[in-house]
Amino acid sequence: MEDCIFCKIINGDIPSYKVYEDDDVLAFLDITQVTPGHTLLVPKKHVADIFEYDADLATKVFAKLPELARAIKAINSDIKGLNIVNNNGQIAYQSVFHSHIHLIPRYTSEDDIS
Ligand code: ADP
Repeated sequence: MEDCIFCKIINGDIPSYKVYEDDDVLAFLDITQVTPGHTLLVPKKHVADIFEYDADLATKVFAKLPELARAIKAINSDIKGLNIVNNNGQIAYQSVFHSHIHLIPRYTSEDDIS
């Protein structure tokens, strides 16, 4: 999609710090690091939100979460947990309308991200 910032990242028109890539998905660091290592997992196919997924695309994207979560956790032994967040629709705080899943490492009980 022409004006989609995440499509531009996928196409390499906007730089990103890549964490993982395959034929179907790209994972890259969020520009606003809620905690260090905050990563976004996006489908390469442009879909706005969860309501536009079919089962095949959902498998290709969501099935990557466990391995990606383990890889992020393995980077730093201080990572004790991980929040997985997926906002769908403006009312649900989505601000970029190319579906994405936040993986937010948690280090201590003090890193309050409420
Ligand atoms: P929110 O902005 O409320 O977190 P989203 O769930 O739509 O809503 O998240 C969009 C995310 O995309 C934000 O965390 C934002 O920091 C991130 N973002 C926006 N532009 C870029 C970019 N160029 N590179 C990496 N991350 C980006």
